[in-house]
Amino acid sequence: MADGAEAGVQFVKLDEGRLERYRRAGYRVLGEHNHSAVEVCRWTKSRLRGERNCYKSIYGIDSGRCIQMTPTLDFCNFGCPWCWRPFGPFRHKAHGTDWDDPKTIVDEMLRAQRELLSGFGGNPRTDKAYFRLAMRPAHVAISLDGEPTLYPMIADLIKEINSRGMTTFLVTNGTMPHRLREMLEKGAIPTNLFVSVYATNPEEYVRVTKSVVPDAYERVMESLSLLGEFERRGSRTVIRLTLVKGLNMKDPEGYAGIVNRFRPNFLEFKGYAWLGQSRQRLDQSASPRFEELKKFADEVLRHTAYRPVMLDSVSVIIVAVRDEESWRRNVETAKVISRLPGCPVR
Ligand code: SF4
Repeated sequence: MADGAEAGVQFVKLDEGRLERYRRAGYRVLGEHNHSAVEVCRWTKSRLRGERNCYKSIYGIDSGRCIQMTPTLDFCNFGCPWCWRPFGPFRHKAHGTDWDDPKTIVDEMLRAQRELLSGFGGNPRTDKAYFRLAMRPAHVAISLDGEPTLYPMIADLIKEINSRGMTTFLVTNGTMPHRLREMLEKGAIPTNLFVSVYATNPEEYVRVTKSVVPDAYERVMESLSLLGEFERRGSRTVIRLTLVKGLNMKDPEGYAGIVNRFRPNFLEFKGYAWLGQSRQRLDQSASPRFEELKKFADEVLRHTAYRPVMLDSVSVIIVAVRDEESWRRNVETAKVISRLPGCPVR
């Protein structure tokens, strides 16, 4: 696996041509070592045009004030066919030992977001007061591309973001449990911790994710065993199922067993969307219709005590909550974070 395995090996992972393609696609590549990036989320643009928020409004996210970023551009230990993102020839390889520090990444991330949004200042559909608010981001979704826990300083990155008055929504594939442990040790507690679960047994896990880590399932289970501690320390914990017809949309009892064992606050069902580069790898028929997702979610939920709290047919997402206490705490947290003053951009 690539995490540190290439120590001392220097190679150009993203050459100028590839960087230029990212820039043309709307990404801002950050730092000296080109492993971090920002891209304005479609829902951020939607909110700035006065339209709807992403489904994470139930967690208190205001999309217009959200930064979508990654510290691991085109670096992942999985090769999931449903991933929207383009895979370069060195997808599974790190950048030698060269990593930018969290402060540099956060400074540049804030600058990039402000520049990328600047055009909305003259947009007749953008409310001027809301535009000024968007210049003070309040949320950071560490979910743009790659596996963020492969960044060795992920704990410090979360602390750096939190210290600037912004929330952190970390989405991980769960294959780096030692990084999650380090986050606990260092008090780097994300506002929401999402662990994606893609299959219900070890063989299927490696097959569907095309993992380069042979013990992916065992690692994910170890990460899930930390959810209780993250919850005690203040995170809202989420298991996310990204479901692809004909691939991993099966064994509802198996998924329910994992959920019952690790008891996250929330369970999300996300139907695979036939978008971006995934269209080269999968047929459109792999994308479940909302009714199909709903039927599968009902089969999983039947074996749990979770209840649905949000059904979004546009994004093909269903969110279920574990119990009343989780919901009460979520409503309180959402209220607080939706009023955050946000981070002034210097
Ligand atoms: S939370 Fe995710 S989907 Fe919602 S606005 Fe932020 S990046 Fe976009």
